[in-house]
Amino acid sequence: MEFNFALELSCKIMSKFDVTVIGSGPGGYIAAIRCAQLGMKVAIIERYNALGGTCLNVGCIPSKALLDSSEHYHNATHKFKTHGIQVEGLGLDFTQMIARKADVVKQNSDGITYLMKKNKITVFNGHASFVNKTQVSIAKEDGSTETVDSDKFIIATGSKPSTVPGVEIDKKRIITSTEALKMTEVPKHLLLIGGGVIGIELGSVYARLGSKVSVIEFTDSIIGTMDKSLGKELQKISKKLGFDFYLKHKVTGVENTGEGVILKAENLADNKEVTLEGDYCLVAVGRYAYTDKLGLENIGVSVDERGRIQVDKNLRTSADNIYAIGDVIKGAMLAHKAEEEGVFVAETIAGQKPHVNYLLIPGVVYTWPEVASVGYTEEDLKKEGTPYKSGQYPFIASGRARASMDTEGFVKVLAHKDTDEILGVHIIGPRAADLIAEAVVAMEYRASAEDIGRMSHAHPTFAEAIKDACLAATENRALNM
Ligand SMILES: Cc1cc2nc3c(=O)[nH]c(=O)nc-3n(C[C@H](O)[C@H](O)[C@H](O)COP(=O)(O)OP(=O)(O)OC[C@H]3O[C@@H](n4cnc5c(N)ncnc54)[C@H](O)[C@@H]3O)c2cc1C
Repeated sequence: MEFNFALELSCKIMSKFDVTVIGSGPGGYIAAIRCAQLGMKVAIIERYNALGGTCLNVGCIPSKALLDSSEHYHNATHKFKTHGIQVEGLGLDFTQMIARKADVVKQNSDGITYLMKKNKITVFNGHASFVNKTQVSIAKEDGSTETVDSDKFIIATGSKPSTVPGVEIDKKRIITSTEALKMTEVPKHLLLIGGGVIGIELGSVYARLGSKVSVIEFTDSIIGTMDKSLGKELQKISKKLGFDFYLKHKVTGVENTGEGVILKAENLADNKEVTLEGDYCLVAVGRYAYTDKLGLENIGVSVDERGRIQVDKNLRTSADNIYAIGDVIKGAMLAHKAEEEGVFVAETIAGQKPHVNYLLIPGVVYTWPEVASVGYTEEDLKKEGTPYKSGQYPFIASGRARASMDTEGFVKVLAHKDTDEILGVHIIGPRAADLIAEAVVAMEYRASAEDIGRMSHAHPTFAEAIKDACLAATENRALNM
């Protein structure tokens, strides 16, 4: 009796934390690390065995692994010859491509496990559910449960793929991004519902590997949340890769026929029905905040009309010791947005006064050429009546781009008409995902277009295109076009 009591007591003490994070995606694990750095006793709970959340396991990292592999294949088949490289017997080992992706995911997930150990963060595996405001119960894979006590909680439970009415995901032929990352064959004809970032990225993986990709999109543009000029250019470039676009089409149903899929859509221009046949249908119409069986009802925390946990400006929920971050709250569903919020909440709990500049969270599409954007779009500025000027520089005019045969796309800089302050930078072109960091730094320090135009940029680099676009915005002074 006495022994059991002591054991139980020691378990209870072991499971009492200053902060417990629910979810180990980029929001959760970064929040946990920052809390630990600030001297707190931290636990993290993850329902899956692998740490890293959507981003590492079925999102950012595996998609980039396949994007890189497929880009190599595409270059080998289409560009090497012009470079004077002859490849004989070029072939595709798709099984190996998927296996390499899995290995990359594992390396990254193991890296998070290492970071948890290094920062002395206790990891629990299992599905967490609030019992009350200071306790969660963890349902484990083996059927047992464990309770964790904590002064504070950070909810970072992320999101799951959504669908549209009439389309039931069967994970066989009617699939989400998760299944598209572990296919066993390259589709001949991939029907892609949704022209957003995730769909276009995965579509371009398969287009490079030889699939015909048909995009069925409800609105009149792809990557519609970005500056419209980017979507138009990307659409033009993607057509050359084997994409067909059915814009302003409303999908009404998809059927798995066993051998393939039949999709029906309504053309919103003439209300006529369109039927498309393919072998797979990838549904990429966005994601919904994931709060299933989290026990929010036990702590009185409310969600908005889209199921996202409601938070105040300090990312605190209606329970004063519980915070929420990342995809499960409002805002862009991006890993680096979740990370910024993780740091913000950790520092807020520690009594600091952190800040997240949401305007300067860049958005990226990892197609080739890449697309990247930060700040206001031209449409935003028009809508708000902000006086602005625009400078554009095409990569075809860049010596570096010509050297690498990456001449498609441009940099567009929007600056305030009177003050010259940079208000937005929109890039479609080689290495745009990395180039955008310069724009973020410039805008964070409230640089003018002329400031950047007067700074030395190494020659020849893709980054010179930003300098020239800034000069173009500054009294049309671009030097290299
Ligand atoms: C195909 C794809 C590609 C993407 N590419 C990019 C990209 O290139 N760049 C980018 O910035 N973003 C990208 N994203 C988006 C990015 O993955 C998300 O924005 C990011 O993962 C959100 O982080 P998070 O920490 O909020 O949640 P998540 O990463 O979703 O992590 C939440 C974690 O919480 C766990 N969990 C949920 N409920 C519970 C519970 N009750 N108990 C215990 N654990 C729980 C989940 O299992 C999950 O591991 C991509 C997404 C997809 C699907």
